[in-house]
Amino acid sequence: MNYETVIGLEIHAQALTQSKMFCACSIKFGSEPNSNICPVCTGQPGSLPVANKKAIELGIKAALALNCKIEPSSIFARKNYFYPDLPKGYQISQYDKPLATGGWVDIDVDGVTKRIGITRLHLEEDAGKLVHVGADRIMGAEESLVDYNRGGTPLMEIVSEPDIRSAREAAVYTETLANLLRYIEVCDAKMEEGSLRCDANVSLRPVGQKEFGTKTEVKNMNSFKAIEKALLSEEKRHEEVLEEGGKITQETRFYSEETNTTSGMRSKEEAHDYRYFPEPDLPPIEPDDKWIEEIRQSLGELPQKRRQRLIDQFGLNTESASILVYDKPLANFFEDTTKLYDKGAVVANWLTGEVTAYLKEKKKTIEELDLKPPQLAELLKLIDEGTLSGKLAKGVLVKVIETGKQVKDIVAESGAQISDQGELNKIIAEVIANNTKVVADYKGGKETALTFLVGQVMKLSKGRANPALANQLLKEALT
Ligand SMILES: [Zn+2]
Repeated sequence: MNYETVIGLEIHAQALTQSKMFCACSIKFGSEPNSNICPVCTGQPGSLPVANKKAIELGIKAALALNCKIEPSSIFARKNYFYPDLPKGYQISQYDKPLATGGWVDIDVDGVTKRIGITRLHLEEDAGKLVHVGADRIMGAEESLVDYNRGGTPLMEIVSEPDIRSAREAAVYTETLANLLRYIEVCDAKMEEGSLRCDANVSLRPVGQKEFGTKTEVKNMNSFKAIEKALLSEEKRHEEVLEEGGKITQETRFYSEETNTTSGMRSKEEAHDYRYFPEPDLPPIEPDDKWIEEIRQSLGELPQKRRQRLIDQFGLNTESASILVYDKPLANFFEDTTKLYDKGAVVANWLTGEVTAYLKEKKKTIEELDLKPPQLAELLKLIDEGTLSGKLAKGVLVKVIETGKQVKDIVAESGAQISDQGELNKIIAEVIANNTKVVADYKGGKETALTFLVGQVMKLSKGRANPALANQLLKEALT
């Protein structure tokens, strides 16, 4: 039997606020356990929540970027369940009246663009964190410690339509969403720190069948790569069960990266198990049109539009343009540099090549470097003028980054490219005199000997000889 995989994703994105969803406690990552807590976020009797306006604003901003409709009136609801990380005995979330509904996002999967529907975006608070001693989950742990710092952190839950058809699409969708949310500055989208989390509903159905198969929910996928691996493994498990004539149990499953398998955690709850009801302590969210319009204006040019513009305006290829727009400061750096040096493709090459490699190695962002657009522009102009070879320029670039000195000072210290014929001919004469055997080989017809001799010229000039000119002069000297 041929099966089709159906996946819907629930992304929990932490809103980039200073404080929690319903109280003024800080949400700083990495604080001392239970240091950022108060009566509201620890569920003390008589404490009252107040919604964080900034979190609502960021939720609306994200929803607009995802082409959703902002509901004129949405309400908070209590989702009731017991767990030690949830001191109130319920989570404040949104249920039948979410903040926003009915959007979409386009994803590029291996060169093909696909539109994924967004069912809804709603706001809710995060639970606290349990630290399981001796195991990575509560089962098998010797004891579990609770830290309420994270309890009450504002989250945007973004629910997709079941439009995703493969593990790869699921990973690309999540990455696209992460990039978008980061770009519009509503979430820093760091999966490894938990500021972006992803749960996946997976089911299989025979190709051609309309009804969905029974789904399972997969949790604990902590990177884009893990999403792809986990869902491939879950897809395979479904297929094996179905092939043997078995039935899939609707349940929540835990993915282990170590074994690359999923295992059952608990049977999947139905909505009625949570006994949702409207939160009586919070008023409805009723954003007026003026506010929504202001937020829409603040979005600016979205990454997919900007990427297309960079391609059209500067002749960049899709890959370079993608690297640039998914790092907003890098894209801004690019555009600022092109105002001073107009060969966009050359600027993009340097930024997505040398500079990006450096940033990755040092785990830094472009904003943290001493390199600024005028310096990169100056460097590129020196290459065009012949003052620096590409190779020398790379060395100068690293020195600019590491010392913060000006390009011209570094060139003055380490020397420009040698393009003076007289000076080059002196070096060439020395190389010819020192390598009589290789010279004889070349004259005897061994073309490759020339490469060696050029190499010697570069070595003797400490990399400063203009390579094209050295090559030409050497040939002339040898005939
Ligand atoms: Zn608090």
